[in-house]
Amino acid sequence: METAYLAHSLSDRIGEFIQIRRDLHEQPELAFQEHRTSEFVAQKLQSWGYQVHRGLGKTGVVGTLQRGHSHRSMGIRADMDALPIQERNTLPWTSQRPGLMHACGHDGHTATLLAAAKFIAQNPAFDGTLNLIFQPAEEGAGGAVQMIADGLFQHHPCDAVFALHNMPGIEAGHFVFRSGPTMASSDDVTITLQGAGGHGAMPHKAADTVVAAASIVMALQTIVSRNVDPLKTAVVTVGALHAGQANNVIPDQARLELSVRALDPAVRQLLKDRILELVQLQAASYQVQAQVDWRPGYSVLVNSERETALACQVAVELLGPGRVTPRGEAITASEDFAFMLEQVPGCYFFVGNGGPGTPGACSVHNPGYDFNDDLIEPGAAFWVRLVHTYLKPAQSES
Ligand SMILES: [Zn+2]
Ligand SMILES: [Zn+2]
Repeated sequence: METAYLAHSLSDRIGEFIQIRRDLHEQPELAFQEHRTSEFVAQKLQSWGYQVHRGLGKTGVVGTLQRGHSHRSMGIRADMDALPIQERNTLPWTSQRPGLMHACGHDGHTATLLAAAKFIAQNPAFDGTLNLIFQPAEEGAGGAVQMIADGLFQHHPCDAVFALHNMPGIEAGHFVFRSGPTMASSDDVTITLQGAGGHGAMPHKAADTVVAAASIVMALQTIVSRNVDPLKTAVVTVGALHAGQANNVIPDQARLELSVRALDPAVRQLLKDRILELVQLQAASYQVQAQVDWRPGYSVLVNSERETALACQVAVELLGPGRVTPRGEAITASEDFAFMLEQVPGCYFFVGNGGPGTPGACSVHNPGYDFNDDLIEPGAAFWVRLVHTYLKPAQSES
């Protein structure tokens, strides 16, 4: 029965997973410290008959269910970590841990995948191997990289991987897909300037790092406006600029912190080349020394065409075309699922958390954010249907 996904089997039992979501929300855990969450996920998966592999990426958990004889396999990933934010909400399930909060909805992603996990275990009408990947440390610490380094895809080969993220500002339960580059690479850069300090009254006897820093900030703006192809996407943000303490002292040091983003590896390289070159030339012109510390972060997230088309088709069949956007916009935020998509084709997509004017519209990483529990049912129903479609038995029983 096609309609069983939403009408009866799943929706009747979704209350259990709303409770789980709220329980996870009350007890948020930071990157690689998701001990309670990971223990809970592992126990649940085990109780439903999954083979459970723990310790990949420290607190990561993989639950595997194998049915039939097919060698086909797929992975679905949910992230589990919270953020160092003091929650402002006063809900019955508000965070009980001071200074920590599930402000990105990873509590909801985890509960949604658990809901699907239970339903699939009870309705295992598929042929192949299903790997449910519960990942730690998505928020900047690179939990996906750590799981891959620990042999995620050697232990659990996947022909394709999928993941979802909630999206505030979009109508609740509306699915948004995009093929190709979808989220940006993100690199962190620290520029340290070393000059000659001196008395503010005698600038001719100093090499002023404040003037050099100011000039570098302005010069950096020309990279996006003058060097990058106007039809491409790039961001160079100077988010911090530190120099000096007093009005009559010329400081001998200044420091700039940059966030650099692109949707194309060639643009990413161009930004790096130009920043390194421009900083040195600018610094030299002010007679100060510059040191650039370049720390590569997340890669560009690229969705594969075939898997995106399949996921989109499954969403349309489940929800109707009115609740699905097949070609959404790329965004300049970053996501470490990009590293899994570098290894295996797949699709990362968004599910609306609530349209403008609703509580679900509050931005992620905001102290007033909360995951919209109404997403658990369509999210889980989607995962179930995707598994039954992707790992469809050769001769399906009716
Ligand atoms: Zn986040
Ligand atoms: Zn997130």
